[in-house]
Amino acid sequence: VTERRSGTEGFGRNGSLARIDLATGRGSRVEVADDAWRLLGGSGLLGVRHLLENTTSGLDALDPEAHLLFLSSAVAGHEAVGLARCTVVAKSPLTGGIGESRVEGPFGIALKASGVDGLIVEGRAYSPSYVLLEEGRASVHPAGDLWGLDTAATTTALEARHGVRAHVAAIGVSGERLVRFAGIVTDRTHAAARMGLGAVMGAKNLKAVVVMRGVTPLPFDAGVLGRVTADYRQLILGNPQTRQQFEAPGFGAWPAEGDATGYAGGTNYRTSVLPTLPATAIADLRARVLTDSGGCPGCPNDCVKTFANGVDAGAGSLDEEVYAAFALGLSLTSTDTVLDLAASCHLWGIDPVSLSFTLQAVCELAESEELPVSLTNGIAPRFGDEEALLALIEGIATRAPGLEWLGEGVARAVASLPDALREVAEPLALHSKGLEMVSFEPRASAGQALAWAVSPLGPRYELVEHDIDFDPVDGPAHGLEQMAEFGTTEWQPMGVLDETRITRTVALLDLWSGLDTLGICLFAGPPVRELTTDQIARLVAGVTGWTISTQDLLDWGARRLLLMRLYNLREGLDGSLDTLPDRFFDRAIDAGRHRGARLDRDTFASAVVRYYDLTGCDPDGRPTAARLDELGLTSSSLRHDISTAPTQKAGPS
Ligand code: SF4
Repeated sequence: VTERRSGTEGFGRNGSLARIDLATGRGSRVEVADDAWRLLGGSGLLGVRHLLENTTSGLDALDPEAHLLFLSSAVAGHEAVGLARCTVVAKSPLTGGIGESRVEGPFGIALKASGVDGLIVEGRAYSPSYVLLEEGRASVHPAGDLWGLDTAATTTALEARHGVRAHVAAIGVSGERLVRFAGIVTDRTHAAARMGLGAVMGAKNLKAVVVMRGVTPLPFDAGVLGRVTADYRQLILGNPQTRQQFEAPGFGAWPAEGDATGYAGGTNYRTSVLPTLPATAIADLRARVLTDSGGCPGCPNDCVKTFANGVDAGAGSLDEEVYAAFALGLSLTSTDTVLDLAASCHLWGIDPVSLSFTLQAVCELAESEELPVSLTNGIAPRFGDEEALLALIEGIATRAPGLEWLGEGVARAVASLPDALREVAEPLALHSKGLEMVSFEPRASAGQALAWAVSPLGPRYELVEHDIDFDPVDGPAHGLEQMAEFGTTEWQPMGVLDETRITRTVALLDLWSGLDTLGICLFAGPPVRELTTDQIARLVAGVTGWTISTQDLLDWGARRLLLMRLYNLREGLDGSLDTLPDRFFDRAIDAGRHRGARLDRDTFASAVVRYYDLTGCDPDGRPTAARLDELGLTSSSLRHDISTAPTQKAGPS
């Protein structure tokens, strides 16, 4: 059906957010003005702006007064390519700075059809509770019977209670017990895993958010969305990236597909010789694919497959980082073990990446015989020791007595050790700003290294298109096809950190930040997947009626990163934290074609300052008033565009 309306205001969105106070059960509606949607787009940019204006500086991430937001955008939530997205925003219990986690899947589609474009949760319920969001109204309900259940059982119980229109974002035992890297799992298997936002729910006694899918707001031109999606479907198999995502076993299986030496890190980045995976791994994974995930309504790419496993098939999806976290990071190379762990992490509601890097540090510390087994409940942690690691993983996820310190995340865990041990352990704790590293090697990927250091979120693998895609040796043939509008038509060796790399990285950071702001899936988007910026503009126009340029997209991205930077500065995270662990400066890659590569301190520090300069920050990383003004982010332009009005009386809490 093609619907075209005159005017462009209000299409594709509800125009407001629901707000609920868990302590009182009182709800309200936050109207977001049209010009605010146009300026802020939605998702993490809308979220961080809310936190800046509605929370006080210095509030602990787990304080009852902290706010937690589930957000769509002006564009996301429609059944078209790349739009099945939801973003969760809060202060991160790991970093103390801005926390944001994206999740694809049906929950984001349901959120858009809930009568509002998002939910703001504040306060702490007096007893375990869940929030029901239906037809624009949020209400609080008892969840005492759900507390202690895993995320799948919680979802099943809430679906039984509320019917087939219910979509559930739940925490498991990790969130309940305030593991600082607990995640939120939507519809059993799509996780907003990173940055500890599940612990924020746990601290609020909030077991779940149930969103009732109702009527999706009418887009400006549904025909355009259908045509862009159909075009994309035609092109999937012709693009190596989208083809890998589409075909079984899907993009979660990448570590088993070739030699990742120098591109991925294993066993705490102490050596670049990666654990040997079974030669049959890809065949094993392919044989275990149960079905497509069915998880991203309207998107033909079907990236996240569900796999048979020995724990819970419904929770068996494999996202892009999980295999690397367990197989490369901890040498748990058995396909069965990886798939069981992936499902278990969904059930516990825990981030496999932070979990892995916390344990990697502990394993390395134990190898040096510095770590008394009394600190790990008598278990000797060893890379590849399945029995020991599975016991520790379960103990951390469930916050078993004696292992609580490891549930604090790797930075706090090593900081809590006795003095002599802490000195040995700190260099092994691979994190930036308190967020554990990712498995994608920074020493030979200069743009990624810079991005992970300067990102207000900390190191996240999906901040920027990876340098390998523009590398003359390993890059795909089409790697540069879309890059001219981002200032480069040249291949560049992935480890080189020069002016070309820095300017390219600035543009690529803003690009993906812009896509994140609009809630458009990075795994469908430019510069190497099949959605071009022109098609992004068509998607935006199809939903909203807006005409946008590539510069608009980059500006949304720049606004998001700068406001996140302002939030971090407010919370005490300054430019001195914009760096990476010493290991990447002190130890070179010791194998493969990138052998000898490491980050150079002076070059890297200069690149960070140059990044500041190019993005409108002073040499200390503080956004300048002129740049904020240029992007429309001066406080006077932001004050008038939202209003809050009570919409319901206090309910049960
Ligand atoms: S590109 Fe993949 S992950 Fe993104 S919305 Fe489409 S199917 Fe989901």
